[in-house]
Amino acid sequence: MKIICIGRNYVEHINELKNEIPSDPVIFIKPDTALLRNNEDFYIPEFSNEVHYELEIVVRINKVGKYIDEQFASRYYQEIGLGIDFTARDLQIKLKAKGLPWEKAKAFDHSAAISPEFIDKKELDLKNVNFELYKNNEKVQSGNSSMMIYNIDQIISHISKYFTLKIGDLIFTGTPAGVGPVENGDILQGFLNNKKLLDFKIQ
Ligand code: ZN
Repeated sequence: MKIICIGRNYVEHINELKNEIPSDPVIFIKPDTALLRNNEDFYIPEFSNEVHYELEIVVRINKVGKYIDEQFASRYYQEIGLGIDFTARDLQIKLKAKGLPWEKAKAFDHSAAISPEFIDKKELDLKNVNFELYKNNEKVQSGNSSMMIYNIDQIISHISKYFTLKIGDLIFTGTPAGVGPVENGDILQGFLNNKKLLDFKIQ
């Protein structure tokens, strides 16, 4: 399986990192070794002094597809969950400045935390999903799916022009504003419509 991530999908987050609003979705990929499951502890890698959390809605693909039309995209997933796209921001800034790929900053081991539980989309209004991240019991990020520049169906359609989607692939749909650093001892808790899905410790 692969993890496909969308960058710059929320206007306020684009502004906080002083990026431009993209004319096309920004896509990058993490390998399966990036997964961090079951609310296990996240260990800050030694190559970074500034690892940021990015809370995101995650879509799990349940059908193989290529060149998926937007109007049929909803047939390719049944559940959404939450994830944290951990980013070595210091390294990413250096790589971006040189025009180099982001993999070392974005795709390292355990950089893609996903919730143990995913929620059936039948139980949700996908146009109005609230999600929030608390760090040490303080709210640091809050978003709503309605704030996405590209919605889930548009993202699936776009990705599948370039990459065949396979069963079990995960799509990280971008982070809202409020990204920030983690430190040893922090507790991260992520909520989707007030249901706690993420709850783990930084080491
Ligand atoms: Zn992200």
